[in-house]
Amino acid sequence: MNPPPFSTLYERLVRNTAEPENAQGCWTWTGKIKEFYPRLNIRTGDGRHKEVRAHRAMLCLMECGEEVELFWEVYELFSVAKFEGDHLCTDNPLCINPDHLQWLTKEEHDEVTRQRGQGLNRRWSKDE
Ligand SMILES: [Zn+2]
Repeated sequence: MNPPPFSTLYERLVRNTAEPENAQGCWTWTGKIKEFYPRLNIRTGDGRHKEVRAHRAMLCLMECGEEVELFWEVYELFSVAKFEGDHLCTDNPLCINPDHLQWLTKEEHDEVTRQRGQGLNRRWSKDE
């Protein structure tokens, strides 16, 4: 009997990270990397596999909450809307700590990237 497709997704994500090594508590990806970003193969609803960026997967999983079966729906939604997974820990694109990630539109992402280039906008408050 096959396990439900997404029941262990969070565990798989976490299992592929190293213990936090910096003061910020980054969960640094130790699995597959492509084009500077962490990658993970996940089974889709119809039994095939799709390779996704692990930090995007983590963000989608957080949106799902307990309803992991909605994962691909949420994933599609954010992909179609062209949302980008932004790292608040700007020097660590391999981090998948959900507290360090946020969805941004392309415009917002460009703007914060520009501000960070000027040394502004480093934020660590969880309340935002
Ligand atoms: Zn981080």
